[in-house]
Order: sequence, then C-alpha cells, then structure tokens
Amino acid sequence: MTGKNKNRCSFCGRREDEVALMLTGKNGYICDDCVRQASQILQENMGEDVFANAGRTGKASHSDLNLRNIPKPREIKAYLDQYVIGQDDAKRYLAVSVYNHYKRLAQPADDGGVEIEKSNIIMVGPTGTGKTLLARTIAKMLKVPFTIVDATVFTEAGYVGEDVESILSRLLQVADYDVAAAERGIVFIDEIDKIARKQDNPSITRDVSGEGVQQGLLKLLEGSQVNVPPKGGRKHPDQDYIHVDTRNILFICGGAFDGIERKIAQRLNTHVVGYDSVQNLQKIDTKDLMQYIQPQDLKSFGLIPEIIGRLPVLTYLNPLDRETLRNILTEPKNSLVKQQIKLFAMDGITLSFEDEALDYIVDKAIEYKLGARGLRSIMEAIMIEAQYNAPSEDLKTLTITRQYAEEKIAKNERMKG
Ligand code: ADP
Repeated sequence: MTGKNKNRCSFCGRREDEVALMLTGKNGYICDDCVRQASQILQENMGEDVFANAGRTGKASHSDLNLRNIPKPREIKAYLDQYVIGQDDAKRYLAVSVYNHYKRLAQPADDGGVEIEKSNIIMVGPTGTGKTLLARTIAKMLKVPFTIVDATVFTEAGYVGEDVESILSRLLQVADYDVAAAERGIVFIDEIDKIARKQDNPSITRDVSGEGVQQGLLKLLEGSQVNVPPKGGRKHPDQDYIHVDTRNILFICGGAFDGIERKIAQRLNTHVVGYDSVQNLQKIDTKDLMQYIQPQDLKSFGLIPEIIGRLPVLTYLNPLDRETLRNILTEPKNSLVKQQIKLFAMDGITLSFEDEALDYIVDKAIEYKLGARGLRSIMEAIMIEAQYNAPSEDLKTLTITRQYAEEKIAKNERMKG
C-alpha cells in the first residue's frame, strides 16, 4: 500500500487514511462520503427514482429498462421471433400493448393531458403453444421482474389455498424486494380459464375457486395499493406488510379455454340473419374459429364482465402444426437442437442431426399428443445414452440418424412398459 496517504479525495481533499473507502478514477479520487453526498444531490435534483432500481444485492438489476428508450413494437416482435415460432397475431398484439404500457409509464405523472389506460392482456390458445414463452421472452427483453402464477392455486379468502396477494409476494421476491422495480414488472397468470364460473356444472355446490377468485384478482388488475405479506402465503395479523401499487404492473393472462370454439360458433350463428350475414358466413374459416374470438365469448365461458373489462387486449394462439413443431426444433435462438450441439461441443464433439431424425422427433411428438412440450422429452430420451458415454470416449463427431433415434425411442418405450 505504498503512497496510500498521498491519495486525496478530489472533492473534499481528505487523505485515504481519513476515509472509509477511496475510489480511484482516471484523473482523481473520490471518497465514500462524497459519493453518498453526490447521490443525495442527484436524487434531489432528478427525482427519487434515480437509484430506486439499482441492484441492491449484486444480482442483475432491473434498472435497464429505460423508459425513454422503449423498443418499438416491430423491434419487440423481431425479438420475440428469435425465440417463439409462429403466433404472429399474438406477437403483434403483445408488442403493441407492451409498448403502450411502458409508454404510459414514461409519461410524466402530472402532464395534465390524456391519461393512457393500462392494457392488460389475455391470450387464449391450446396448452403448449407458447403463451408462457411469449410472456417470459418479453420480460427477458425488457429486463423487468417477471413471475408466473397458476390461477388454480388461488382460492377465495377463507378457504384452503393461496391468497391472490401472494402473486405480488413472488414478484417482490424476483425483484429482490425492490418495490419500485416490482411495481413495473410483469405477471403472467396461467390457466385463467380454470377459474371461470361453472354455471354449466350442477355438481358444484360451492364456488371455491371460481367467481370469488375472479373478484380477488380484479383488485390486482384494477390497480390498487395492496398489502402484501413479505413471505407470501396467508396474511397474518402480526406480519408487517409491504405496500405494493399494482397500477403499473402489466398482467398477462393465459388459458386454453377448451371448447370456446363452440361459444364462438354459437355467436357467429346467432348473428346470421338476412342475406348479408349469409354472405359473411361464407367467408368464415370454420376450421379456425379462434381467430374470431371476442370478449363476449369469454363471458359465455364464465369470466365475469369486470375481469374481461380489465383485460382489454384479447389475442389467440394457434395450435402447433407439424411444420411449426419442426421449426421449433431448430429455429429458436436456444432451440433444442442448438442446445444439444452446444452440450456436445463443450466435450469437443461435433454433433449433427439428419433431417429424417428430426422429422421422426416431430412424428413422435404428434403421436404422444404433447405438442412442443413433448419435443424436449423425446430429444432427451434419444440423447441420454450418448450424453452418458460420449464424454469418456475419444469421439470427434456424432451424427444422429433416424435409425439411431428410432432405436433409442423403442428402448425407452420398452423400459416404460
Ligand atoms: P403454454 O401455451 O401452455 O403456456 P408454453 O409457452 O409453456 O405453453 O410452451 C411449452 C414449451 O413448448 C415452451 O417452453 C417451448 O419450449 C415450447 N414452445 C411452445 N410453443 C412454442 C413456439 N410457438 N415457439 C417455440 N417454442 C414453443
């Protein structure tokens, strides 16, 4: 530590041995006291938000979302395209509403002009078609706190299960308890269709997980100050609550809404009166009714109108066809094939897949009726043996052929009976 005492703070002039910490710059020094003072001055001059989002625990901070520099809808879509195959309509809707949402946050609180309303989103589409992936990818792009919750775990206050406030506990957790960051995060509520009113089901005597939960969720979606138990779970009288304002949290809901096509068809039919409508009906693509989904179909399905009103952006996802599944294997930035190639490359092995082997994986995924979710487990079943042996063998290349894939899957099926 030679010359330790020669270094003086360029701001207050104190020597290094007179201060707790001295930071060295290119042409000078600054002590911890002066850093603190400078920070205070900044906060006073630029509003209290300046350091609100700085990572407090050294983990990735959530401050990267620069509200003045929000990616444009086309940029958001282009980013999503890197990870999610197809689903163009959903991507466009998401891109626009996320863009508007963060524009809304960038608006000065007191500009006295038109107040932009929040645009929570609801995505309807079969399971495993990319709803969660879309929401997760958007959050990754924006570097905001993100959490996924399953609507089925919630119950009305007083019943066994989680209170809806626990959603916010989780968001706080991922934001490292940085309340300001959590307050502009994204929450994905999955299986929202499972808390629909079950009016068609006479055996339900008590609507534990239906309308009551919707009412509970409404409070969050509407935007309000919510008292959140810091550790999650049930509220407890002795606990100190954290106050979370949900006004700027973006809620994205997803659900399969099995059978909603029937409601859409019914609506389309009942509206068919007169010659014009018959003409219109002919233009309807009856094989793909989901594209005609309207908020009133969600109501027929059992969502309460207040919830629907708070989810103004409604979009849908298509079932994944063979071609899309095939693309999902290879196209996304972190596709299953790219991941396997990387794993083997780390052992110095060049891995490749024959096209026919990939076609076979898709065939199996369709046979197992697991959609894109099935691709992963089929890939693992094919690769496990090579992953086990290859690192210990002097192997330079490995090509997965259809025959190899078939053998491994046949073995796997035999083992599982
Ligand atoms: P859900 O619609 O039920 O929320 P997910 O988004 O969780 O479905 O999809 C399950 C998995 O399937 C994802 O993690 C992803 O690997 C894959 N997947 C589904 N749809 C797509 C898609 N359109 N593009 C790329 N991968 C997809």
